[in-house]
Amino acid sequence: MSAEPAPLPDHHVLILGGTTEARRLAEALAGDPSYRVTTSLAGRVASPVLPPGGTRIGGFGGIAGLAAWIVAHEVTRVIDATHPFAERMSFNAAGAAALSGVPLLALRRPGWAPGPGDDWHFADSLGEAAGLLPGLGGRVFLTTGRMGLHTFAELTGTWFLVRSVDPPAGPVPPRLEVLLARGPFTLEDERELLARHRIDVLVTKDSGGSATAPKLTAAREAGIPVLVVRRPPVPAGVAETDSVEAVRDWLRM
Ligand code: NAP
Repeated sequence: MSAEPAPLPDHHVLILGGTTEARRLAEALAGDPSYRVTTSLAGRVASPVLPPGGTRIGGFGGIAGLAAWIVAHEVTRVIDATHPFAERMSFNAAGAAALSGVPLLALRRPGWAPGPGDDWHFADSLGEAAGLLPGLGGRVFLTTGRMGLHTFAELTGTWFLVRSVDPPAGPVPPRLEVLLARGPFTLEDERELLARHRIDVLVTKDSGGSATAPKLTAAREAGIPVLVVRRPPVPAGVAETDSVEAVRDWLRM
C-alpha cells in the first residue's frame, strides 16, 4: 500500500523582507503545510540572517518585474514586511499587487514616541536632518545606516560616530569613526558608547521596534537631544498591521 501524497500548500506567500518582523513571520509560517513561503531580500547586507523557508536575493526590476515574478511563481499572497524606510519597495509592492491582482498586506512595526524627559527634534528627510544637525551638537552618533551617509558629507565641522552593519561606501563626512555592529543593542552598551565618545546628539530614523530602542533611553538619561527622521508616507490603499498574528489571520481568510 503506497502512502498518500502530501497535500499541496494552499498558498505561496511572498514576504518582502529584510526586517525582524519578516523573519518572525517566516518562522511563524514554517512547518505549516498550508503555506509555501519565499522571503525576498534586497541583498544590501553581506551576510544576512536567513529565515526558514525559501529565500531569494536581489531586486525584481521595478513594479513590472515584481508583478511578473508573482505570476510566474504562482504567488497567492504578498506581505510587505520591509523596513518602514524602504519606501521604493513598498511603492513597488503596491503597484505589483494591483497589476497581478494578488492581495497585499503590509506588516510594519509601530514608530517610536517621545516620553517624559526626552528632547526630540524631527526632520522629514536625511537632508533636513543634515541641515538641523549643526544647531544641535558637534559630536554625533549617527544611526541612520550607511546608505544615506553622503547626505552628511558636507558637514566638515561635525564629528560622527557611524554605526552600520556593513562598511560605508561613497562620500562620507570627513571626520568620522565607523562602528560595525548589528543589533539588538543593550542599554548598558549604549550608555557606555555615548559616554566614551562624548556624544552630544543622536540621529536616528523612526524605525520603531525594540532591537535598537535602548539608544533612545541612553540619550534621555544622558540629557542629549535626539534628531528623529520621520517615516516616509505609506502607499495609499494598502492595508497595514503590526502583528504577525494578524497576518496569519489574514492569510486564513
Ligand atoms: P528601497 O530603497 O525601498 O528599494 C530600492 C530597491 O531595492 C527596490 O526598488 C528593489 O529593487 C530592491 N529591494 C528592496 N527591498 C527588497 C526586497 N526585500 N527584496 C528584493 N528587492 C528589494 O529599499 P532600501 O531602503 O534600500 O532597503 C533595502 C532592504 O533593506 C529592504 O529589504 C529593507 O527591508 C531592508 N532595510 C532597510 C532599512 C532602511 O533604513 N531603509 C533598514 C533596515 C533594513 P527592484 O526595483 O529591482 O525590485
